[in-house]
Amino acid sequence: MTAQLESCPAGTAAARVRPPVHLAPARVDLDAAERAAAALLRALGLPLGTEAMSRTPARMARAYAEMLAPRPFALTTFPNDEGYDELVLARSLPVQSLCEHHMLPFTGVAHVGYLPGERILGLSKLARVVEKFSRRPQVQERLTKQVADWLWTELRPRGVGVVMEAEHTCMTLRGVRAAGSSTVTSTLLGAFREDPRSRAEFLALTTGPARSPGHRHD
Ligand SMILES: [Zn+2]
Repeated sequence: MTAQLESCPAGTAAARVRPPVHLAPARVDLDAAERAAAALLRALGLPLGTEAMSRTPARMARAYAEMLAPRPFALTTFPNDEGYDELVLARSLPVQSLCEHHMLPFTGVAHVGYLPGERILGLSKLARVVEKFSRRPQVQERLTKQVADWLWTELRPRGVGVVMEAEHTCMTLRGVRAAGSSTVTSTLLGAFREDPRSRAEFLALTTGPARSPGHRHD
């Protein structure tokens, strides 16, 4: 992850910590999932009697349970004491999700930026917000919007922008088998939507050509 704002204010005494956010599916029945996975594999004509595959249904069940469970995190915000009013941007945050139509993975990166209002967010939390909405059956359009909407509501910044680029294995490994293709989605809110200058800056940093080194804060 690279970020426009290099200093992370973790540890600030005035930090406001909210309780951990739990969004895991309420009940996961691993035994039932394992039985169902075995039934699926058998129905597909696969041999489960071999030593190599005898534990595959259990592994499948655990793998899907893990991919559908975001790690809980505490939303930590800090007062914007310095009055920092420029773009805060975290680039290339990992996106790992499952398409809700095929339950196949789609993976890629998200660029998440905001224009601070009265509070700022610990930078690592931007990645956690992406994970929070990724670890569930998704479509990329909704995932992009949910990340933006959540930041807009919880952080109350002056602007939020999310650009996501991902490869969908349901499109690259099956169907049209468009290997190497990727899908780009974006959601812009507040100043990023309404102010042409802010919008242009955000889009140039997330979707434009590589930046010149002199543009960074380091
Ligand atoms: Zn799909």
